[in-house]
Amino acid sequence: MARIDLVDLAHSYGGNNAPQESFALKPVTMTWRQGGAYALLGPSGCGKTTLLNVISGIITPSRGQILFDGKDITPLSTQKRNIAQVFQFPVIYDTMTVGQNLAFPLKNRGVPKAEIDKRVAEIGRVLDLEPYLNRKATRLTADAKQKISLGRGLVRSDVAAVLFDEPLTVIDPELKWQLRSKLKALHRELDLTMIYVTHDQTEALTFADTVVVMHDGRVVQSGTPAELFDKPAHTFVGYFIGSPGMNILPAEVQGREAKVGGHVIALNRAYDNLPAGAKIEIGVRPEFVEVVGPAPGLLTARIERIDDLGRIRFARVRVGDAKLAARAPAGFTSADGTAGLKFDPSHVHVYADSLLVEGAA
Ligand code: ATP
Repeated sequence: MARIDLVDLAHSYGGNNAPQESFALKPVTMTWRQGGAYALLGPSGCGKTTLLNVISGIITPSRGQILFDGKDITPLSTQKRNIAQVFQFPVIYDTMTVGQNLAFPLKNRGVPKAEIDKRVAEIGRVLDLEPYLNRKATRLTADAKQKISLGRGLVRSDVAAVLFDEPLTVIDPELKWQLRSKLKALHRELDLTMIYVTHDQTEALTFADTVVVMHDGRVVQSGTPAELFDKPAHTFVGYFIGSPGMNILPAEVQGREAKVGGHVIALNRAYDNLPAGAKIEIGVRPEFVEVVGPAPGLLTARIERIDDLGRIRFARVRVGDAKLAARAPAGFTSADGTAGLKFDPSHVHVYADSLLVEGAA
C-alpha cells in the first residue's frame, strides 16, 4: 500500500510544446492517501483514463513527477510500480479454472503455494466465487467474469494501489449495486488504496470516501461526497453532482447581496473584493430554493412542470432565460403558473469565473 503524490503532473498527447490549454491532463498537484477509497469522476473525454494511465505507468507524463511513499517512480514501468489494474472488459483465461485465474498474479510473482491458496480462498469468499473455484472459466456470465477480473485485481496484498477503469460497465444494473457494495467492504477488509474511474456520480458517491472530480483535463475538486454537495468548488461540480444539479445564475454581487434580474437575494457572507472583470454567478442547489406564492421582494419564476420524485418534488421553473429547479413543498399549487422563489442564504454560493469565492464572515 502506498501514498501517491502527483507533483505538477501534466500530459499532452501533442507533445510538451503544445499550448497548455490543449493538454489532456492539465498540471495537477495532489495526494492520494494510503488506504483511501477514491473515485475519479467526470464526463467522457475529461482526462480520467489519461490520469489513471499516467499513475499506472502505461503513459509517461509530459511533465511532473509521481511519488509512491515519497519515492519518485515516474521513470518506472507498470510492472515495477507494483500496481493492479481492473479494466472495463474482463480479461479471463478460459482454459484455467476460476481459482487458477485468481491465483495467476500471485503465481507469476513466485508467492508460496500455501499463501496463494489462502489468498484465493479469501478473495473467492468475499466475491461469492467459492462454488466456482474448481470450474473452468469458460461459459460464465459476463458478471461472473468481471467478478474474477475484480478478484485478480484484489488478490495481491503487496500492491501500491488497485486501479479500476469503469469496471462495472458491462454488469447488469442490479448486480452493479451489489458488486459496488462488495468492493467497498473489501476496501475496508483488505486496507488497499483504490482508485475507481467512473462517469457515473452514483457509482462514485457510493463507492468512495473521496471523490476527485475532473473537467476539461483539470482536477476541479477533491472531497467527500458531502463536501462536493454542500460546497462545490467549481460551478461544474455543482452542476455535475446532484440530481437535479445546482442552479447557476448570473448575478451582480456586492457585500451581502446578490442581484438577479433586479431582485435582491440575501447572502450569508460578505463579498466586497470580487476580482474585477470576472464573470460573477451565484449557485444554489434546488434543495435550498423553495417555490412559494408570488410575493413582493421575491424573485418571480414561471413554472414549466413539477417532477414528483416520491420523497421530494422539484418544480422546473424559468426566470427570464435561465432554467432553475426548486423544491415544491407538499400542497404547493400555482393558479396562474407563476411562483416566488425563496432562497436559503446559507446555501447560496458565489462564483467568480466558475470558481468558488469564500466571502468574509
Ligand atoms: P472516457 O470516459 O470517454 O474514456 P476520459 O475522461 O477517460 O474519457 P481520456 O480518455 O483521458 O478521457 O481523454 C482525454 C482527452 O485526451 C480527450 O480529448 C481524448 O480525445 C484525448 N486522447 C485520449 N487518448 C488519446 C491518444 N492516445 N491520442 C490523442 N489524444 C487522446
